Amino acid sequence: MRKFVYQFSEGSKDMKVLLGGKGANLAEMTNIGLPVPPGFTIGTDACKDYNENDQTLSEEIFEEVLTHLKLLEEKTGKQFGSNENPLLVSVRSGAPVSMPGMMDTILNLGLNDKAVQGMIHQTKDARSSLDSYRRFIQMFGDVVRGIPSYKFEEALSLIKKQKGYAQDTELTPDDLEKLITTYQELYLEHGSEPFPQDPLTQLRLAVQSVFDSWMNPRAVVYRRLNDIDPNFGTAVNIQAMVFGNTGNKSGTGIAFTRNPSTGEKAVFGEFLINAQGEDVVAGIRTPEDISKLKSHLPDAYHELMGTCELLENHYLDMQDIEFTIEKEKLFVLQTRNGKRTAQASVQVAVDLVHEGKISRDEAIKRIDTKQIDQLLHPTFEKKALEKGEVLATGLPASPGAASGKIYFDASEAVAAADLGQKVILVRNETSPEDIEGMAKSEAILTAHGGMTSHAAVVARGMGKCCVAGCSEIDINEKEKTIVTNSGITLREGDAVSLDGSTGKVYLGEILLTEAEIGGHFDELMEWVNEVKQLDIRVNADTPNDLLTAIHFGAEGIGLCRTEHMFFHEERIAYVRQMIVAESLEERKRALAHLKEMQKEDFIQLFRIAKGRPVNIRLLDPPLHEFLPKAEKDLERLAQDTGKTLAEIKKRVNELAESNPMLGHRGCRLAVTYPEIYKMQAEAIMESAVQIHDEGQKVFPEIMIPLVSSKEELAFVKQEIKESVQAIFDRERVLLPYDIGTMIEIPRACVTADEIAKEAQFFSFGTNDLTQLTYGFSRDDAGKFLPSYSERGILETDPFQTLDTAGVGALVEMAVSRGRMANPNMKMGVCGEHGGDPRSIHFFHKLGLKYVSCSPFRVPIARLAAAQVVLEEREQLQKV
Ligand code: ADP
Ligand code: MG
Ligand code: MG
Repeated sequence: MRKFVYQFSEGSKDMKVLLGGKGANLAEMTNIGLPVPPGFTIGTDACKDYNENDQTLSEEIFEEVLTHLKLLEEKTGKQFGSNENPLLVSVRSGAPVSMPGMMDTILNLGLNDKAVQGMIHQTKDARSSLDSYRRFIQMFGDVVRGIPSYKFEEALSLIKKQKGYAQDTELTPDDLEKLITTYQELYLEHGSEPFPQDPLTQLRLAVQSVFDSWMNPRAVVYRRLNDIDPNFGTAVNIQAMVFGNTGNKSGTGIAFTRNPSTGEKAVFGEFLINAQGEDVVAGIRTPEDISKLKSHLPDAYHELMGTCELLENHYLDMQDIEFTIEKEKLFVLQTRNGKRTAQASVQVAVDLVHEGKISRDEAIKRIDTKQIDQLLHPTFEKKALEKGEVLATGLPASPGAASGKIYFDASEAVAAADLGQKVILVRNETSPEDIEGMAKSEAILTAHGGMTSHAAVVARGMGKCCVAGCSEIDINEKEKTIVTNSGITLREGDAVSLDGSTGKVYLGEILLTEAEIGGHFDELMEWVNEVKQLDIRVNADTPNDLLTAIHFGAEGIGLCRTEHMFFHEERIAYVRQMIVAESLEERKRALAHLKEMQKEDFIQLFRIAKGRPVNIRLLDPPLHEFLPKAEKDLERLAQDTGKTLAEIKKRVNELAESNPMLGHRGCRLAVTYPEIYKMQAEAIMESAVQIHDEGQKVFPEIMIPLVSSKEELAFVKQEIKESVQAIFDRERVLLPYDIGTMIEIPRACVTADEIAKEAQFFSFGTNDLTQLTYGFSRDDAGKFLPSYSERGILETDPFQTLDTAGVGALVEMAVSRGRMANPNMKMGVCGEHGGDPRSIHFFHKLGLKYVSCSPFRVPIARLAAAQVVLEEREQLQKV
């Protein structure tokens, strides 16, 4: 017989795939002697079985559940459905990977009209018993029958209003009985059958719904956003209830063993007295800081602190713990590795190394490359911030800074973001339905809920700025307005700025500046450098970008796109003159201007690079990006060149190409007009000589783009070499430099052994290589790639993550053929893929020397390059 169900005592933390994260950790905590209410777990295999059998729960599995239920009755001395001493359970989902708020939990299952009397009899507490019952009907209705929670909330609010109560806890047993009747009517009305009184029916339906919830849309979206395997399935935990809603000596809460926002080493948490389950996270009442528990329930507080320490030392990571106190007795209901901001993630990992708990390698492995981005994110510019008008202050739920237009509805936020707007999602409180809207927003603002509310937890996970529990503003989701304490009204589309580190909300947009990093981060990145083998270079065309990148640890420039240096209005004029020139003389006149500009730039870059390699790619201007189109630009060009407007238009027409991406660009330009690359080579070398004369080191790499054959490269290279030699002769110096080529045309990959004879280095231009391998125009791919991903034809965008099977195979071919001809050939990557962690893993395995990426991706690339080394070592050890 197959086994599907496991007592908590049968499991362990290493059984996550089978028992789910929650179940595995409940088992682990049970086995280390923590006060966990008893229960059992239906394994993920049962979910798979359920899905394979068209969403039916097999009798075999249910029988096994009943056997375990019997054991639970024996253990607790209570009976399911008893009108004297009823056993109540929670039915909790738990997937192998934590999916907060994604799957649904039902509490107090087992209650019915009879059993609630049993509970009253046993607890001598009619209020809390009836309160548990009405909560159960609500959760069960919501989860099992999809009856919207607000229907129940409306009924609850109505009674409170009629009686003039402020808090739920003021409801009397009479009120609650009435409410339960109303709830059951609501259930009948919306569920089209009476609320099931039979506890076993309740249990079966609940288990089925948990399995069903694995496929609900928000779970599907969450898995997609977080790359979680959709085939895992979820486990179901059935656990005896404990009650935090039994008066002032009871309560429920959440504790993090360290601060999940900053990483500071101090227990951080919140609790609510006389409350149950989700009350803390749901943000209905604002919870109290954990420190207040000390004076209120000192014994439970101290036991909780001890538990925090024990669990952290056991798991060797920051834990996120759910607890309930029933009449002063502490129960632990869940532990997991806590979600945290990037800042906290770095600080906790580094601190754990200092505390001797984990190794440096382990710390490196634990940092999520996706999250690092957060650390580097901009903050508000200090001066601009001082002038900012503070509208309100809420809780600093997730750090970062953001400005944007406010939207009150997740789907409208998505629509606005899709139109390219920067959006701030504003909600009273968020719920899992808002996930996609949150993902597309710059930041999230809520009026209710604490530091562990849904909004806060999800935002931290996503690395988004979030201000939660901002009770100083009044949010009207229907009217789409925010009214502040001081009476200012904001409407949909108005701009606000949020500071997730202070909780402040500002009017309008505020200037942002680059992030400052240091301390723990620098320390971690030093460890990273000791491990990684790839060099990380930067794609930079401006001194500013290079400075940023060096600050982030870049080891040189991997790609300086010289045409980008001319985007400035003044400069592009000369590029245009060069393009439309009809004679060598005209062209040389324009080139002379360009040369001076290039020299200014190169000198600056060389100075900042301080001897690090600077790879300069010679001009590669797809003509359509540079030819003037606007009338005023055409007029200006006519003026600059002393031609008539008609002549200019005619010339521009002549130059227009049908397929500019495949047209007269890259080194083809130099085959027709060698003087262009000669000018650039002179600019590079004259600048290098000047830097050398200043007594500084300098190492230029001259890179020729869009090469498809050895002969083509040989021709262009010869021209360049002559120019360089002329300068060396004239200046009587000899400086080291390399001439190499980009490999970005499939033919170049295939003939790499030939091309290698003419090149001192290869740099894979994976953007063009992807474009040409797939035949997907980079400029047009936006029109059809989305359908490819919707239909599951393409799993990832090949322009973001390298297509290893196709483009990667070509790269691999070029690497091996290139090495055949020249075993010491320096090879690197300079496409967008150079900053993508998955692609970096691939490049590392090919044994490339470096990858080059945009400045803000440099730290991510460094970390990814170290992680792949550690991964390899681990695999080697296993073999
Ligand atoms: P989630 O994964 O969404 O946190 P949980 O299964 O952890 O869902 O449960 C939701 C809430 O109910 C949590 O606050 C949890 O602590 C509480 N809860 C779960 N089981 C029990 C139980 N047996 N007794 C009391 N409270 C419980
Ligand atoms: Mg939940
Ligand atoms: Mg939980």
